[in-house]
Amino acid sequence: MNPIESGVAEKATITLTNPPATHQTAGPVRPRVLILGGGFGGVRAARELRRADVEVTLLDRGTGHVFQPLLYQVATGLLSEGQITTPLRAMLRRQRNARVILGEARTVDPAARRVVASRPDGSTFELSYDYLIVAVGMRQSYFGHDEFSRYAPGMKTIGDALAIRRRVLGAFEMAESLPTAEERGPWLTFAVTGAGPTGVELAGQIRELATRTIAREYRSIDPRETRVLLFDGLDAPVPQFGEKLSAKAAHRLAKLGVELHMGVLVTNIDDTGLETKGKDGTVTRYDARTVLWTAGVHAVPFVDELAARLGAEQDRGGRIQVRPDLTVPNHDNVWVVGDIMALSGLPGVAEVAMQGGIHAGREIRRRVAKRPRSRRDFRYHNLGSAAYISRFHALVKAGPVELSGFTGWILWGGIHLTFLAGARNRAGAAVTWLLTLGRGKRRERAIPFGDPRGPQDSFPGACS
Ligand SMILES: Cc1cc2nc3c(=O)[nH]c(=O)nc-3n(C[C@H](O)[C@H](O)[C@H](O)COP(=O)(O)OP(=O)(O)OC[C@H]3O[C@@H](n4cnc5c(N)ncnc54)[C@H](O)[C@@H]3O)c2cc1C
Repeated sequence: MNPIESGVAEKATITLTNPPATHQTAGPVRPRVLILGGGFGGVRAARELRRADVEVTLLDRGTGHVFQPLLYQVATGLLSEGQITTPLRAMLRRQRNARVILGEARTVDPAARRVVASRPDGSTFELSYDYLIVAVGMRQSYFGHDEFSRYAPGMKTIGDALAIRRRVLGAFEMAESLPTAEERGPWLTFAVTGAGPTGVELAGQIRELATRTIAREYRSIDPRETRVLLFDGLDAPVPQFGEKLSAKAAHRLAKLGVELHMGVLVTNIDDTGLETKGKDGTVTRYDARTVLWTAGVHAVPFVDELAARLGAEQDRGGRIQVRPDLTVPNHDNVWVVGDIMALSGLPGVAEVAMQGGIHAGREIRRRVAKRPRSRRDFRYHNLGSAAYISRFHALVKAGPVELSGFTGWILWGGIHLTFLAGARNRAGAAVTWLLTLGRGKRRERAIPFGDPRGPQDSFPGACS
């Protein structure tokens, strides 16, 4: 039950003065801006307010800003989690008007201008605001089949990427000690559902890991025989890149050894594999001990709570319908930005989130400075998109410009290095990529003990 409604909040929550007394300047109290979410949208909004006469509080359930577009490289042992994450505190350390709080937003009381959040130990606290920016992002969606998540992890967080790494590397280890080819086969079969950029990147990387990095490291199995199956209900991979680039991606993936199963729906997943249904109704079963899910996204649960509290409309993906200036109808002081905003069909990509965060920050700056014409509509500048296919091959689409192959790959690298936060991360990623391309080595292959698909860190049935 909602802590505010239940009245339990009075006892259980502590009101946190935001900002703390030590941060307050002498004189009149400055307007409080509360930003929920330290992803692309939230961080850009906070930075945009660095010179504004406001007190900024950034709340996130994690301590780091995660560069999600490279999660698949963490999952396949190429980059470490530290190379794609930057501590939020470090990012905002020089911004004197900003502070970072670790907590998960649970509910909002728009009349009292207050958000209730929980700490990692479950206790709760309140944060007050004059202006609220919500940028809490999406989670994986299983299209009403949440039971699939038990067998097929998605990829939205660092935890997801590390869980996938454990499953993928653990599967090769399982296969190595099994006595027969029949038993080894399902462990050397990897199924990826969803042929959008993430699914394509993941499938390609698993094949490259198997055929280049670990090809000669095992004695019983030949990792080069690894099967990677890619499933999607649509007829071609990465359709958002247009027909020509999509065909190039399909061709490149096939050359890499990824088996494309397009135009089929995944109808069931269990511990040992999955079932698909074709357009003609044919049901096919695939034995695969590793199934990974990248097929859909839905707003995180807090967004439903927020929408209910604000009386806002949501689309099928749970996104909140915003006005052209990114505020929520009837709530002039609440902006919703990034993946969770629904506006004119804008896609859930990093650029939309970053530009949305900057827009919201700018609007607040103008209002605080009491400038006339303070209300401006959000205008998105589409800078294009990119997807990695395999070594030396990537797709880039920017307006009429369509690139693939090596040129696309160079541009893809440049784009990712530009937007990856932190000079050290950028240098680390660039060096790692160069080494991997040349020698195929992947250093980030540490995984915990135990069943690669289970939560335990010891072997089931082990002596205690
Ligand atoms: C695997 C993958 C690959 C991608 N590849 C690309 C790509 O190549 N190009 C591209 O443009 N886009 C890509 N995207 C999409 C891009 O990452 C998102 O569009 C972008 O991250 C959205 O930014 P955001 O600020 O809306 O949300 P996010 O970046 O998701 O940030 C949301 C933040 O909110 C926090 N949060 C969530 N719930 C709460 C809560 N209740 N309380 C407090 N904090 C909370 C989270 O911890 C997180 O830090 C990819 C996404 C994924 C998952």
